Amino acid sequence: MKRFKDKVAIITGASTGLGPVMARMMAAEGAKLVLAARRLELVEDVAADIGDDAVAIRADVTDEGDVETMVDAAMSRWGQVDVMMNNAAVPGTDKYIWEQTVDNFLDTYKVDCMAAMLCSREVLNRSMLERRAGSIVNFSSSAGWDGMVRKSHYSAAKGALRILTKTIAREVGEYGIRCNCVVPGAIGTDLMLNYMKRVADEQGRTVEEIEAGIVAPLPLKTFSTPEDVARMALFLASDEARTITGQSINVDAGLVMS
Ligand code: NAD
Repeated sequence: MKRFKDKVAIITGASTGLGPVMARMMAAEGAKLVLAARRLELVEDVAADIGDDAVAIRADVTDEGDVETMVDAAMSRWGQVDVMMNNAAVPGTDKYIWEQTVDNFLDTYKVDCMAAMLCSREVLNRSMLERRAGSIVNFSSSAGWDGMVRKSHYSAAKGALRILTKTIAREVGEYGIRCNCVVPGAIGTDLMLNYMKRVADEQGRTVEEIEAGIVAPLPLKTFSTPEDVARMALFLASDEARTITGQSINVDAGLVMS
């Protein structure tokens, strides 16, 4: 199946975890890609692995100039943008609300919510609105439904991202453009491993014990793989989802049932 033949996609945070997995899967289905990350050498490796259909670019998604340069790269190389994957995120620093700082809260919000606004605005203005086509996919977290202890910064940003998704969807629908949100629970990536290591160290327990505690309440008793989450993101990005917009879809082994 070549769902992305003749389509151009930008993936942010494409250097580690889910980003490179989505990049390889989209390339296999015919996509031309701009892969963006702050660490150019990492994202260059991913692009080199894919070949001529991928370009790597250094971009901090919270920086307006960098985001413009990122979209310029897609426009000058391929002349259009069909898919915007707003995947980049940071976990911030774990803090109880009574320890929370403005810097930690806002620094997390900028990457985990505001950047999706910036990247969406730019691809809409440069390509999607004029072509009356496109699909934007945001990446929230189950923490953004029910909150997560010591993660007010992350939970609030990821919750706001779902409302941003709905608002974009309402505004751009009449132009034939869609916007949806994937809401992962625990994915077995470095982000999750580092979190479990941190909690294990703090509590004097093993990573396996922490993992067992996370998995126990899940109906399906498993983490998602990056591929599990990528499959949903690619579906939402593709024309297969042509009448789906404004939705937040959980990929979380049954953690949240709304
Ligand atoms: P990850 O940390 O491996 O990937 C995120 C990428 O974003 C990293 O490469 C990071 O360098 C990049 N990034 C951070 N700040 C940036 C900035 N300012 N500009 C450009 N790039 C920046 O995480 P992942 O596990 O691959 O997560 C992918 C998405 O899924 C994220 O949105 C994350 O919040 C979400 N998610 C992940 C989990 C999980 O368990 N891993 C759970 C729920 C939601």
